[in-house]
Amino acid sequence: MNNRQSNTADSGPTKRPPSVDKVLNSTGGQRLITRFGRTAVTKAIRHQLDLLREHRHTDSAAFPDIEEILVLVNETLEQDNQFSLKRVLNLTGTVLHTNLGRAVLPSSALQAVNDVASGACNLEYEIDDARRGDRDSHIESLIIDLTGAEAATVVNNNAAAVLLVLNTLASGKEVPVSRGELVEIGGSFRIPDIMSRSGCHLVEIGTTNRTHSQDYRAAIGQNTALLMKVHTSNYKISGFTNTVSDAEVATIAHEFNLPFITDLGSGSLIDLHALGLPDEPTVSTTLNSGADIVSFSGDKLLGGPQAGIIVGKSEYIERIKSNPMKRALRLDKLAIAALYGTLKLYKDPNRLTRDLPVLHFLTRTSEEIMGLARELIAPVSQKLSGIAEVSIVDTKNQTGSGSLPLELLPGHGICIRPLAQGDNWLRQLAAAFRQLPVPMIGRLHDGSLLFDLRTLEHSNDVLSQLDFLELPQRDED
Ligand SMILES: *Cc1c(COP(=O)(O)O)cnc(C)c1O
Repeated sequence: MNNRQSNTADSGPTKRPPSVDKVLNSTGGQRLITRFGRTAVTKAIRHQLDLLREHRHTDSAAFPDIEEILVLVNETLEQDNQFSLKRVLNLTGTVLHTNLGRAVLPSSALQAVNDVASGACNLEYEIDDARRGDRDSHIESLIIDLTGAEAATVVNNNAAAVLLVLNTLASGKEVPVSRGELVEIGGSFRIPDIMSRSGCHLVEIGTTNRTHSQDYRAAIGQNTALLMKVHTSNYKISGFTNTVSDAEVATIAHEFNLPFITDLGSGSLIDLHALGLPDEPTVSTTLNSGADIVSFSGDKLLGGPQAGIIVGKSEYIERIKSNPMKRALRLDKLAIAALYGTLKLYKDPNRLTRDLPVLHFLTRTSEEIMGLARELIAPVSQKLSGIAEVSIVDTKNQTGSGSLPLELLPGHGICIRPLAQGDNWLRQLAAAFRQLPVPMIGRLHDGSLLFDLRTLEHSNDVLSQLDFLELPQRDED
């Protein structure tokens, strides 16, 4: 300590704290200002000096020198400057993981966002006539083109779409829905709640397992606004069941001059069966079955940004667009651009499995995933040698977000099983993987830590950061 003090007479430990200005004007202080700005650095220094004063045991205890104070200030500033929302590696085996941001966007979507957001744009401006324009106009014709609908509009997400459709077409009136379709989607979206919030009255018909066309007919009265079907995308009822097809419900609705609306949930624009994936109703088949309005999500199987897409008959879309609630639920320019960049890929469906991450991940072959596993196994084993057994395992992957619910795709993963350590150590190991620069999110399963590889883009995303992994202390250490 003493010789330190002698090198710069007035920056060594003292009994009195340095002034904020003195720290600020030191060489190190100036360096921090260049990086973080004067206001932030001043605030951080003041905060640090307060902390040091508070934690001083006695008045005579020495104060750290300016250099030491600056190290602490730098740490605080680095931490404050980190955005908590950041990129992670989704190695959970669930392709559309709501907690991990659902669909990974295609580069065409990122490009579109970049083009539109880096300057002013004609969001609501008609360039040809220098008039006020409609933000939906930039995307509507593409959606019409891809779905065969008469008209379309877009809102913040599919929950908003359902709310807006019901509020526009059924406020103050009754809506019969089959008891088998009163779904709850994760994150507190429940059909009965959305119904009451949209101002309409749910009339439950049929039973949980069986609903017949007669149930729809019997429920229709003076006050019925429309008939509605909800695609039960996140569960299936099996056994003694009966549901009424879209075409039958449409026929009944139209007999009574009522609109028929469908909440398709995920919905797909293409025949997934042709890609070797389980069937999912497409938007155009649903429209062709007689649905007057169909709503679906932008960030589920469609593979784009969070959005709710509403398609169907012009007369209803017009009313939906002029509902004041639409103003509150409208899509912003970034999402419109990202949605356009995503949807345009559907004009050439042959390239979707290459260019659209969601479909790329879902259609990856077992061999391709196994290839990633083989690239990872040796380096990961070596990192954990003597501590854990690392092996390649077969896994079952799900689409997630209530899409293609019961269908599991065969995949592969890297399984880390501790040799002697217990669950506590394993949890700490999982936490250490989450502390990496790009956190690796896997899952704990049956005494091991599993990293599923279906949604890993490149093995290098893992390999390049293995050196940073800090193994937890072993129990016997
Ligand atoms: C996912 C889903 C919703 C909600 O869609 P978000 O885009 O997440 O708001 C609504 N209905 C059904 C049937 C769904 O599967």
